[in-house]
Amino acid sequence: MSDNFDVIVIGTGAGGGTLAHTLAQTGKRILLLERGNFLTRETENWASGPVFIDGRYISPDTWYDQDGTPFQPQVHYFVGGATKMYGAALYRLRPEDFGEIRHVDGISPAWPVSYDDFEPWYTKAEWLYQVHGAHGEDPTEGSRSRQYPWPPVSHEPRIQQISDALADAGYHPFHAPCGILLDEADRPRSTCIRCATCDGFPCLVHAKADAEVIAVRPLLDLPNVTLLVNSEVVRLQTDSSGRTVTGVVVDHGPDGKQDIFTSDVVVLAAGAANTAKILLRSASDAHPGGLANGSGQVGRNYMFHISKAVAGFGAEPNDTVYQKTLGLNDFYLAGDGRTWPLGNIQMLGKSDAGAMKGEEPHLTKLVPEWSLEEAAKHAVDFWLTTEDLPKPGNRVTVDRDGNIHLAYAQSNETEAAGLYQEFRKILNHLGLAKHHVLHKSFYMSMNIPVAACAHQAGTCRFGADPATSVLDVNCKAHEVDNLYVADTSFFPSIGAVNPALTTIANAIRVGEHIAGRLGASVPGEAWAPAPRKAPAGHPASAIRPGR
Ligand SMILES: Cc1cc2nc3c(=O)[nH]c(=O)nc-3n(C[C@H](O)[C@H](O)[C@H](O)COP(=O)(O)OP(=O)(O)OC[C@H]3O[C@@H](n4cnc5c(N)ncnc54)[C@H](O)[C@@H]3O)c2cc1C
Repeated sequence: MSDNFDVIVIGTGAGGGTLAHTLAQTGKRILLLERGNFLTRETENWASGPVFIDGRYISPDTWYDQDGTPFQPQVHYFVGGATKMYGAALYRLRPEDFGEIRHVDGISPAWPVSYDDFEPWYTKAEWLYQVHGAHGEDPTEGSRSRQYPWPPVSHEPRIQQISDALADAGYHPFHAPCGILLDEADRPRSTCIRCATCDGFPCLVHAKADAEVIAVRPLLDLPNVTLLVNSEVVRLQTDSSGRTVTGVVVDHGPDGKQDIFTSDVVVLAAGAANTAKILLRSASDAHPGGLANGSGQVGRNYMFHISKAVAGFGAEPNDTVYQKTLGLNDFYLAGDGRTWPLGNIQMLGKSDAGAMKGEEPHLTKLVPEWSLEEAAKHAVDFWLTTEDLPKPGNRVTVDRDGNIHLAYAQSNETEAAGLYQEFRKILNHLGLAKHHVLHKSFYMSMNIPVAACAHQAGTCRFGADPATSVLDVNCKAHEVDNLYVADTSFFPSIGAVNPALTTIANAIRVGEHIAGRLGASVPGEAWAPAPRKAPAGHPASAIRPGR
């Protein structure tokens, strides 16, 4: 294998996988470096015990909080990154999120691009990731140049009932945007079986639109793309001026060797915490505070959303299987009597007794199994999200041994409480109010909230001013001529909707920019939906472990 490439992409998740997919169409020689391996396809993929209680797919990494207390972060090192576990709720930010927004605890800063500037890439991202939805239903959404490629996933009866009750009460429920490979009009050809395990589980039949399935797998047979798994990037080397990355140092594991790869352009997309870690560990005489860190902003402004998962229990059983079809943005913006923006409400994957045990081990350990199961049959699961502010003191640092330290203090708790209050009013309309509300921790049984870093972002924000941002408007490092960042690190603010679609759209945008820089262009069809055919290994009986 040649050690010299046109582009090296570090990380194969929403950012890296999508950017590689975008660039691959140009014929440029691309090396994809991934510290994890392919996630094994096995029956445990869909079992809440192994997934929620045993944390089978969480990395064994140890990070430390600001007091030096060690914790296991909810990170997933696989081809496809965190999208292997994500719920595939693929929301656009609202147009207002691209401007400055006043919050109770400070300002959510403006982006260097507007929603209208960004819109074409949202459309491309929705088409590439085969998003199902209905633009036009949610009154808070921005303009769009094209409708979703697929109609919304239909509500199951209990969710339709909830949607109707909300509309009758004057709210504006909408069909949530879902990234799954499902064709309801042509079930025999569909691959998604609408099971309950999109959210927080890997998809055994590869029917979730994750970065492995959508972006990376289609590249595996291309002659111009090389993927190396079990290859952790530990450092970037530069020339003596510090302006050019000249080597990507890769560790192949405890028994493996180190390699150094070179390329004209390097793209970091290792996730917000690990991207900051790699830059900070690449300090040199030219960059004493860490590579591209003359501003001192690398690792700062870490955000991860203020989220609450709540299961409401009513007399009515809820036999919904695929529950994530409904969203509500009535409280997203200030106004209508609200001083502050409060956030988004959406549905979670359907809980079962095993998941509840994992999510509330202290509360449920004394409850006999049968009553948990009965409770789970009646549960309706919601996910409430409030915007988290970029605070310089919320930051990733790295100690001498290369361990990540994460200092974090929550903001906007008053707004989160306001959203919860509104949510409690909603329960009144849904027949759930008189019943028990179970607060669930973030997906997994995390004992400290900072470990729930599923929506991590902001550690290398983009902006026009090199004094206050790490990346320029094209996500190139201000201080390095051939280094780009294409994961959630670039977010200057995070809004109150899930971050993956914005990351995917930005990766396409940055990929197209890099293609132009290399004298190539990305063919228009690069983002069109892939042919809808059953993936290798489908149906489930034919699935083999590994690739
Ligand atoms: C349980 C769960 C549910 C979620 N649900 C949703 C949802 O419904 N909607 C939504 O929008 N978002 C959701 N998210 C968040 C979403 O998955 C992330 O925002 C998104 O994947 C981030 O993309 P990224 O490219 O920044 O990082 P990732 O997708 O995590 O990719 C980073 C990649 O870099 C690799 N890597 C790390 N360090 C190195 C290194 N040193 N060398 C080489 N490779 C490295 C990792 O293994 C990984 O493959 C969810 C996340 C989780 C965990």
